[in-house]
Amino acid sequence: MSVDLDSIRLELIGDDERGFDFLKPDELEPLTELTLPTRGILSAYLDISPEQVATGKVRLKLKDMARTWYERITDKQERRAFENELARIERYLMYELKEPGRSLVIFTGEPANLWRVYRIPVRIRTRLVWDDRPYLRPLLTVMDEYERFGVVLTTREEARFFLFYLGEIAEYSFALHDYVPNRHKAGGWSQARYQRHVDDHAMHHFRSVAEVAARLAERDNWQRIVLMGTEENVAQVRDYLPKALQQRIAGELPASITDNLNVIRDKVRALAQEIERQIEAERVDQVITAAEKGQNGVLGYADVLMAVQQQRVALLVVPEGLEHPGWECSQCAGLVADILEKPPESCPYCGGILTEVEDVVDLAMQKVLSTGGTVEILRGPMKDVFRERGLIGALLRY
Ligand SMILES: [Zn+2]
Repeated sequence: MSVDLDSIRLELIGDDERGFDFLKPDELEPLTELTLPTRGILSAYLDISPEQVATGKVRLKLKDMARTWYERITDKQERRAFENELARIERYLMYELKEPGRSLVIFTGEPANLWRVYRIPVRIRTRLVWDDRPYLRPLLTVMDEYERFGVVLTTREEARFFLFYLGEIAEYSFALHDYVPNRHKAGGWSQARYQRHVDDHAMHHFRSVAEVAARLAERDNWQRIVLMGTEENVAQVRDYLPKALQQRIAGELPASITDNLNVIRDKVRALAQEIERQIEAERVDQVITAAEKGQNGVLGYADVLMAVQQQRVALLVVPEGLEHPGWECSQCAGLVADILEKPPESCPYCGGILTEVEDVVDLAMQKVLSTGGTVEILRGPMKDVFRERGLIGALLRY
């Protein structure tokens, strides 16, 4: 088959209308290498849900977070640079943010000629960071947590391909249109012979579809695959897929080849949510069972933060939106949650001096990720179950 893989790109069809940006997996890579000699890049993570935008709360929150930075920046020139970047974000919120959504992420830094805006369809904690580089961690965490679904929609002679990621979808700039013999041109053929001829072409088509899917899956790291179309056609494509890809089939859904992008996205999104809820339920069950049996599981701030400090956490499980104030040790970077009646006098791990931090959960997540562990953020109904069972939990390496 003669499909040039290099020419297949992801198209952003109907992007504006949908109010979200489709974030490509490799999109942030250039930003990870960007560093200035001094602080000059402002990163803002903002909640742009309809209520926040309508009441102007989003701008108030930004001002509020900026105030904390003003207190910390003493150099006059640096202060001016900070003001500049802040004003740019304020102008954007004022005049350019047309549609509310879920989360808005902005990286701005004039010295680096940097201005990036992402509207992300999932919740990310609000924050403002002034540094010599973009603060990417929260965005990278979200991108890491969500799986990439390749989507293949096929008929007997056509096929479209999509990538579903972070709740959004984009279509590949490529569709298969395979030749199907016309009845008239087959004049004189017997009905049986004609039918066989058509079937041969359809087989060839399904094989091509499977081949393109397999190659895109490898190139773009599809973690799961969704097959769409009639049951009969989907079964054909499935049979031609390599075994390894067959095992990654997340589901098979009915769809028409002319369905628009939003219709396809909504169908895949419902399936992805169902899978995510299953995974969440399994993980919560694993942690609770392990903790109850006194095996490799812990629940609650004290035990979890201790395990984080000992670098024993393989999987940290946290309900979405969980925040908790506490302290960080200036010597060993150990974390202590504010759950005691009176603040500890010194670090329980090493005796060092403790400094107050706004949120130990966020810091714990960063530490787990930087020591090779993973984080599961609960977004479905398990969120509330887990909150009642000690809020935070972990599976340990040993
Ligand atoms: Zn310490």
